[in-house]
Amino acid sequence: MSFKSQIEAVAYCRTPYKQKFGIPRQPGLVSAARGFVELQAPFNHIDTVRGLEQYSHLWLVFCFHENLEQGWKTTVRPPRLGGNEKMGVFATRSTFRPNGLGQSVVKLHKIHQRKGYVGLEISGMDLLDGTPIIDIKPYIPFSDSLPDALGGIAHEAPVLTDVTFSQLAKQQLQGYQKQEMYLHLEALIIGVLAQDPRPAYKKAKADPKLYQVALYDLDILWRVIDDTILVQEIVAGTS
Ligand code: SAM
Repeated sequence: MSFKSQIEAVAYCRTPYKQKFGIPRQPGLVSAARGFVELQAPFNHIDTVRGLEQYSHLWLVFCFHENLEQGWKTTVRPPRLGGNEKMGVFATRSTFRPNGLGQSVVKLHKIHQRKGYVGLEISGMDLLDGTPIIDIKPYIPFSDSLPDALGGIAHEAPVLTDVTFSQLAKQQLQGYQKQEMYLHLEALIIGVLAQDPRPAYKKAKADPKLYQVALYDLDILWRVIDDTILVQEIVAGTS
């Protein structure tokens, strides 16, 4: 039995994340990540979101659009297991899936509307900038929240790493945070880097490498020194 469905993006997500490296593994881990779900025609009519303001959180069903061309495999190597053990693709939240679909709960702050534009201001997303949104649904705590459920390999949030800033980065931060769009920049950098985005095998030993994470139109340069992440410099972005 098979079915064909005309699935199209109802919206696109605008987020601070311009590359996959650095995006948290799940939503809600970096609340300082602010963005918008921008509805597309013909869905960009305010009637489609009438009443949505009654909810504090939304489910976003979306497409891992940057991974679609790589296809999928029956088993994957979850980063949580150090990339060594294999698990079935349906036993993980892998980004390489048969239909390439993901789902994330995000906080809804405000609904913005002007001629031809409906935008949902959100935070805490784990989505690449430009991600196509396939569906938007209100989060319903009585049925969606199951505190006693078994979480398998993902039973708890990742352990956080301390993040510090060099004198230079502190000065640069002060400059950037005077601009509205970078209001949450320090909290965003700390939230993202505290997840230590490096692959598991890199964390096992000393790692002198200088890393870069793209946030908004900035590149955050950082390295790991004695189990602490040091933000070395904040420079104009290249991605
Ligand atoms: N919460 C969703 C879920 O469980 O289906 C996504 C979890 S998945 C592990 C989160 C990762 O997806 C992010 O860390 C990022 O690397 C990747 N990602 C986010 N948006 C993407 C996109 N549009 N295309 C491909 N990968 C994406």
